[in-house]
Amino acid sequence: MSAFRTLDDLGDVNGKVALVRVDLNLPMQDGQVTDDTRIRAAMPTVLELADKGAKVLILAHFGRPKGDRVSTMSLSLVLGAVEDVFGREIMFVPEVAGDVVTQAIGILRPGDIAILENTRFWKGEEKNDPDLVKAIAANGDFYVNDAFSAAHRAHASTEGLAKVLPAYAGRSMQAELEALEKALGTPERPVAAVVGGAKVSSKLDVLKHLVGQVDHLIIGGGMANTFLAAKGVDVGKSLCEHDLAGTANEILEAADKSGCTVHLPYEVVVAQEFAANPASLRTCNVHEVAADEMILDVGPSAVEALADVLKTCRTLVWNGPLGAFETPPFDEATVALAKTAAALTREGSLISVAGGGDTVAALNHAGVAGDFSYISTAGGAFLEWMEGKELPGVAALAGD
Ligand code: ADP
Ligand code: MG
Repeated sequence: MSAFRTLDDLGDVNGKVALVRVDLNLPMQDGQVTDDTRIRAAMPTVLELADKGAKVLILAHFGRPKGDRVSTMSLSLVLGAVEDVFGREIMFVPEVAGDVVTQAIGILRPGDIAILENTRFWKGEEKNDPDLVKAIAANGDFYVNDAFSAAHRAHASTEGLAKVLPAYAGRSMQAELEALEKALGTPERPVAAVVGGAKVSSKLDVLKHLVGQVDHLIIGGGMANTFLAAKGVDVGKSLCEHDLAGTANEILEAADKSGCTVHLPYEVVVAQEFAANPASLRTCNVHEVAADEMILDVGPSAVEALADVLKTCRTLVWNGPLGAFETPPFDEATVALAKTAAALTREGSLISVAGGGDTVAALNHAGVAGDFSYISTAGGAFLEWMEGKELPGVAALAGD
């Protein structure tokens, strides 16, 4: 990964206009913000710039208005929630460019903050239209990107602006890039990856990339069934993509060639129906699954063996739960391995990075999210990074 500029590289910003891209794509219910994680993530960067005397103009997208002004997706709806978290008064500007923004800047004093309207109200945003980029940039002195979660998109506010203004990574972006660099860029070895979740098809590129990068690949969740079936194991009526047997075997061969040890469950938790604590629940060897049973979690002895693998590793990257963790007791393997990873991290012997919507939920459920070295809440961008792709929003920040 190439180096990038941070807020530490900024000179005097007093009175200057900062265009700051953050993630305010907030979950809402009945007009209320239900989770303010993203607001809190944006706060250090915005307040640091404001406290240094910049006039901070916040850029963000909200929902998918597809180039139209959709009133239910106006960023004015989240203004109050952002003011509450920041503890500051914030101006709302119903445009992203032009005279209205220029006039607003005239009213703002150094250290003041404004939120500009949803960037996706303009068709040029998702097209990365140079005219829109130029119009937004005309009102700013420099650009800060603090939205890693949007960095896999080459949009006007995530990529275009970085090309025409002096560009810097915000504090959240910086923390994310530094954590990801430690996990897969130049990691301490051995490195283990846990990849789980429902389907192989959604994470094929992740698996293909990881086998060339990590020393141990632990495969769990529904996707393990596809690998087991490809190896000739009868997985009963488990969730399984039988048509991907060839691909699964190619991944296993590639792993073999690059010296990556793949760990598939040898013991599993099965049931005849997918329900909480079903009467038919049992633990068995992976070769003993009956035709009317489905694999819903990794078995306890197999999890212990996986914990032993983690104990030999210095770095862990985790995406995807090991079982159907939303339904008890199929959360047990995920919770047990997460607790091991958390304990090793606390002891200082493991650097642990995890990401993915359900993965974060599972680690919260296990009560260990705070013990991991870094938890990424950037769904799509995190997965593309795990695929080894260069993210346009990050590439555009690279210093030269
Ligand atoms: P993430 O959002 O972290 O990337 P995924 O969306 O890929 O994770 O996968 C999470 C889903 O996989 C969960 O809903 C979980 O119930 C499901 N899952 C895990 N193991 C199994 C299994 N053995 N059978 C069916 N579903 C499973
Ligand atoms: Mg998911």
